[in-house]
Amino acid sequence: MQARYYDPVIGRFLSNDPMSFVDSKYDTRYFTRYSYAGNDPVNHFDPDGRKVEFVGTKAEREKIRTVVSAVVKSDPKLTTRFNELVRSEHTHRVEYTNGTVSTTGIVNSDNARNGEGTSTVVKISRSIGPGDTYSDDSPRTEATVVAHELLSHSYDADKGVLSDDVNPKSDVKVREERAVKTENIFREAVGLEERTEYGGKKVDLDE
Ligand SMILES: [Zn+2]
Repeated sequence: MQARYYDPVIGRFLSNDPMSFVDSKYDTRYFTRYSYAGNDPVNHFDPDGRKVEFVGTKAEREKIRTVVSAVVKSDPKLTTRFNELVRSEHTHRVEYTNGTVSTTGIVNSDNARNGEGTSTVVKISRSIGPGDTYSDDSPRTEATVVAHELLSHSYDADKGVLSDDVNPKSDVKVREERAVKTENIFREAVGLEERTEYGGKKVDLDE
């Protein structure tokens, strides 16, 4: 892959280990470079940072890194989106949650909608397991969740284009249709069944 990844903290392009920057703030190899993180970096959310961060134990960060990497590398469109997230002025954090639902937390909900853009926190449910499906029986995996939350909802929030509009054709929120379509880019790339529903309603996949 020709894609190059910009590390905004270190300030140079990385091409041989494209994912190495993403959890750098929490990687002890880099601690000396960050004074702002203090001694408890996991609890210091730096809203002015410029990066995508993986938060959790070392094992969890490795797991998240593997999943995000698979999604990001699956299709050039997703690679581009991820690089835009990394380069943006906002921080996007990815971590596990004990909650049963995976979510994207929006740091500033006004800015997520008014074009300013904002930081986000993606929480991946620990309860996602083998055989999980959506209402249309398409598989739900950590990777499809990352495509949905990080590469669509966080992306929209980062750009400030998160919309509450509902598509009258499908009665599904536009932002959820965008997220399902983003999932489908990944699904198609890796041969996973396409998702066609959100909340039990058929998504308008044409537009
Ligand atoms: Zn969603």
